Amino acid sequence: MDFSLTQEHEVLRQSMKEFGERVIAPKVREMEETSEMPMDVMAEMAKLGMMGVTIPRDLGGTGLGHLARMIMIEEIARISAAIGMSLQMLHTGAGAILGGGNDEQRKKYLPDLATGLRFATLAVTEPAGGSDPFAIQTTAKLEGDLYTISGRKCFIENSHLADIHTVTARTGEGPRDISTFIVDKDTPGWRPGRLEHKMGLRGSQVGEVILENCKVPKENLLGAEGQGVRVALGGISAYGRPGTAACGLGILNGCLEAATRFAKERILYGKPIAELQAIQWNICDIYLDLETSRLLVYRAAWMLDTAQRADAEIAAAKFYATEAAVRAAKKTMDIHGAYGCMNEYAAQRYYRDAQLLISAAGTSEIQRMIMVRKPLS
Ligand SMILES: Cc1cc2nc3c(=O)[nH]c(=O)nc-3n(C[C@H](O)[C@H](O)[C@H](O)COP(=O)(O)OP(=O)(O)OC[C@H]3O[C@@H](n4cnc5c(N)ncnc54)[C@H](O)[C@@H]3O)c2cc1C
Repeated sequence: MDFSLTQEHEVLRQSMKEFGERVIAPKVREMEETSEMPMDVMAEMAKLGMMGVTIPRDLGGTGLGHLARMIMIEEIARISAAIGMSLQMLHTGAGAILGGGNDEQRKKYLPDLATGLRFATLAVTEPAGGSDPFAIQTTAKLEGDLYTISGRKCFIENSHLADIHTVTARTGEGPRDISTFIVDKDTPGWRPGRLEHKMGLRGSQVGEVILENCKVPKENLLGAEGQGVRVALGGISAYGRPGTAACGLGILNGCLEAATRFAKERILYGKPIAELQAIQWNICDIYLDLETSRLLVYRAAWMLDTAQRADAEIAAAKFYATEAAVRAAKKTMDIHGAYGCMNEYAAQRYYRDAQLLISAAGTSEIQRMIMVRKPLS
């Protein structure tokens, strides 16, 4: 067993680190204040090929794969989890087309998504409850060559940025008659709804997507009719969950850096608090959570890259890295004392951002349900 990264991966990490510190870090305060996504940063990321990391070269991507994607998102989210989440959801929307689409659909949509000419998302959740993908009420009725889609999706990452929405809709009377469609935002009847005001991940656009008699050609059906949950959950499992977990890794990195820096600088009783054993133990806990999370996340990505079935391992990575990010952010705030609650320090941002990762791509309870299937099988 070899745990070392390839030289290609190390170079990628260094270049992402440098990019994050040079291009993203100066934007973070403004994002916190305005809750707006800096589109100039997204354009730079597109130029570097970051949107197409898991899209094959013959479809315009860089084809670097899932482990490269994790390293990329980890380093971006270390500086801004909001941009990390937006980026990972672009990959997820494209991933649903790559995994569930036919050759024609892949050739039509993926080159523009790979180069960042257009942005994507995957819209499953509805007000009736995100944990149960069969509870959706959005409908799609086939008349002639067109499906008419009507419904409302909520809590959708990139709701107001994406050009291409992969959406689930009910296509029959049976409880499992759900299909997934590609919907271009220029289709009449599509419109963005409410943009959420969130406690964290400020700058990433999470909101509603509304479809009112939105007519899409039947060629936009992804996979077969009635297979929509499989297509959508395939995208969430292979892209949304690892991507969210990698954002957790980014926050864990940020916490470890902030906690150690503060502990070395803060003088109490005539010496840095880093010399107090209780502080050291808290830093040690953050370090251990980061290392454990990274092993789980990278293993899941390696399994995806080697085409292994990895549902339980992906769920474990998502569960652990996001819960660990919340724990680490709380400890980082504690180490900072009152300073941790002040906007000048990143600790409070990590705490607000980390909590939002818990629900995204399925809550911790849902990850536990997926994980336990493996030992019980
Ligand atoms: C930042 C962010 C980004 C998101 N982006 C997207 C996106 O791009 N696309 C998208 O489709 N959705 C997105 N979501 C929505 C997300 O997928 C849902 O929030 C999530 O699936 C949970 O759904 P819910 O919020 O409706 O909670 P509910 O499903 O109503 O769950 C409520 C509670 O019940 C628990 N629960 C549910 N079922 C069980 C069970 N069987 N056993 C035990 N407990 C259970 C849950 O764990 C939770 O604690 C995003 C959410 C966030 C916060």
